[in-house]
Amino acid sequence: MNDILPLAVDGRVLPRPYIIAGPCSAESRCQTLDTARQLAEAGVEVYRAGVWKPRTKPGGFEGMGAPALEWLREVKEITGMATAVEVATAEHALEALQAGVDILWIGARTTGNPFAVQEIADLLAQYPDTPVLVKNPMHPDIELWVGALQRLYNAGLRRLGAIHRGFALYGAQLYRNHPLWRIPLELRRRLPNLPIICDPSHIGGARDLIAPLAQQALDMGFDGLIIESHCSPDCALSDAAQQLTPADFAIVKASLQLRTPQENAELKGDMEDLDHLRSQIDYLDRELLDILNRRMQVCREIGEYKSRHGMPVVQASRYDDIMRRRVSEAEELGMSPDFMRTMLAAIHEESVAQQLRVMRSDKKG
Ligand code: PEP
Ligand code: MN
Repeated sequence: MNDILPLAVDGRVLPRPYIIAGPCSAESRCQTLDTARQLAEAGVEVYRAGVWKPRTKPGGFEGMGAPALEWLREVKEITGMATAVEVATAEHALEALQAGVDILWIGARTTGNPFAVQEIADLLAQYPDTPVLVKNPMHPDIELWVGALQRLYNAGLRRLGAIHRGFALYGAQLYRNHPLWRIPLELRRRLPNLPIICDPSHIGGARDLIAPLAQQALDMGFDGLIIESHCSPDCALSDAAQQLTPADFAIVKASLQLRTPQENAELKGDMEDLDHLRSQIDYLDRELLDILNRRMQVCREIGEYKSRHGMPVVQASRYDDIMRRRVSEAEELGMSPDFMRTMLAAIHEESVAQQLRVMRSDKKG
């Protein structure tokens, strides 16, 4: 997939970073047009709006459906902005394209459904110049994300992009959807030509998290942002807590530090220092591996001990105790408790696996 083309509308390549903004949902003609006018004034070139809304439970606002496509046609006519909508079925895609929508995106819940993605891809094979953005699936599975992109690519689409909207993890978190940045970075490593756009609205789930997340994404080299904005966010029928007024959107946009090509060149000049720092990281990573290896060795010895004494592998109280102490020690060193918990849980899982292996071979022997 190294011949991905840039996003373009009516033959014009869109400027980078791609900035897409608009309401979570098109709710009425008035709200759609009012928001659009204000965002166009703030310099937005691509207007997003959900027309068919996938809801977790029945009874919620499911979008205004096809009639809202007419409002988007008016948005384009009046403001000159390109328009983008979410499609979840081939029928949505066809209706949207026939109504003149410029860019389609596949939502997180649909990316996780290969049948639906394939049906959309089969339909879009007839419209291969359509720009299509694919959101990551709800759960952290990069293969499903890549798979959805491949289905579109195999259908002949080349104007493709990915949207990183975070991942749903169990339990309350700071973010509505955890960013798990290593996953979009892995996508970048695998598909270096694919533009990746960050969706800080669905990651953060709250207005005050939009600006810091957006800046972080730009600093990490993302190719654009998709941000939810509504003319009257508190009354929004979906995702009210995370939508910015167009005025607040303009403030966030103006606060973002975008790197110019010249600044990137200056950055290159600093590369030697960076190489030096990177070699320190390589060294420290090797040390980390060595320490982990030594820890596993001790775990195997504990496994032998427990096996001799007929003890179970996991002692929950010991695990809780280790977790509590290490998390508070890490916090004192300036590391986040979330990070420490995730890391310890992963180390613990491998330690248990190694102990079990020892105990099983003890039993066999
Ligand atoms: C949306 O963009 O409004 C939306 C429903 O997003 P997601 O598919 O990321 O949940
Ligand atoms: Mn939304």
